Amino acid sequence: MPHQPISVSGVEVTPLCDAVGPMGAAIRRPLPEMFAGSGLRDEPWVLHFHCYLIRDAADRLTLVDTGIGAADSPASSWAPVPGTLAGELAAVGVAPAEISTVILTHLHSDHASGAVAGGEPMFANARYVVQKADLDVAQGPVLDEIVSAIKAQLHVVEGDAEVTPGVHVRHTPGHTPGHQIVRAGEVAMTGDLVLHRAQLDDPSLPYLYDDDREAATRIRTEVLDALRAERAILATAHFSEPFLRLHPLLGHDVLS
Ligand SMILES: [Zn+2]
Ligand SMILES: [Zn+2]
Repeated sequence: MPHQPISVSGVEVTPLCDAVGPMGAAIRRPLPEMFAGSGLRDEPWVLHFHCYLIRDAADRLTLVDTGIGAADSPASSWAPVPGTLAGELAAVGVAPAEISTVILTHLHSDHASGAVAGGEPMFANARYVVQKADLDVAQGPVLDEIVSAIKAQLHVVEGDAEVTPGVHVRHTPGHTPGHQIVRAGEVAMTGDLVLHRAQLDDPSLPYLYDDDREAATRIRTEVLDALRAERAILATAHFSEPFLRLHPLLGHDVLS
């Protein structure tokens, strides 16, 4: 079921819950290894896999991330496939063909696999916004099955950009070279900039699967500091709560 939408600054943001589940054995590690130095207990880590649908004042639809994809998608080796993005969109009355822009925060299989269905672009009328730095390093099934299928609809950006009126991407390299976050009004959709609540309290905590842990830590700290200063709304891919209102001095409220 989709989580509750919020309306801010003339846009409506709806979290679509593509899946909920633990990482599969292929990449699962105990939490104290996933977040070294965190002091987290070794307990199950259940991830939500969220995509976000933005409807602006002119009724344009932008989708941020596409989830884990079909049962045989590149994410199937470790994520709880199949994803339910199509059903989530139907539940809020949106057909895939109505979406004009798809922003992929990065080209990991649990964010990009739902971009394709049956070897064809899932969103026939959308351009797919991806950072060049992630395209440059794409390989394996993500390149062969996802990027190649959406090639004709790719909208490649380098650095920060306004991709549709009021919707901005910011290049935040670290988790991947071309990781980007998305801003719509006061909502920041942060992909895998932050993976676990422990990193809100201590942004210096590295994540095992950050591509460049030093860069990821630096950009995570910088972005979270800035978002806190403006009391922005944080919308992550993998927390169970789709929205958190950040406060200076490390506090945050769950928005329902
Ligand atoms: Zn969810
Ligand atoms: Zn990722």
